[in-house]
Amino acid sequence: MSNPTRCAACRFLRRRCPQDCVLAPYFPSSNPERFSCVHRIFGASNITTMLEQLPVHLREAAADSMFYEASSRVEDPIYGCVRIISQLQHHILEAQSELLKTNGQIAFNLAQHQLHQQQQQNAVHGVSYHQDQQISEPSGLSSEMQAFANDCYLHP
Ligand SMILES: [Zn+2]
Repeated sequence: MSNPTRCAACRFLRRRCPQDCVLAPYFPSSNPERFSCVHRIFGASNITTMLEQLPVHLREAAADSMFYEASSRVEDPIYGCVRIISQLQHHILEAQSELLKTNGQIAFNLAQHQLHQQQQQNAVHGVSYHQDQQISEPSGLSSEMQAFANDCYLHP
């Protein structure tokens, strides 16, 4: 039994399209350019072998990937899709570097804002920033922590 309408691959290769043609689902007769492009780069037997080696649920993605690679190679015979991949990687690096710079700027602005607020509070209470630092440091231990420390000292 053969398909009443041959798939693009079988039509291109001038052969009978069997009912279980492995290429038919991915190379419909409505899109002959898709098969001719992939065939030009990979060759019909390689396409068939690659698809046959894959589980059925992955074949569509593989055929799409082969078409993408083949059309990129036709457009750019030297670099193919590698040019697009490296351009995208470059964009990612640029975006990551921009993100790092922005996060650094945010942290810097936040620190400046906090310092400014602290200085304003100190000015209201008539204490300079430097003195306040010295005053506030000994109270670093909470009363609970001090109680715990005393407890350890008294009952080792
Ligand atoms: Zn076919």
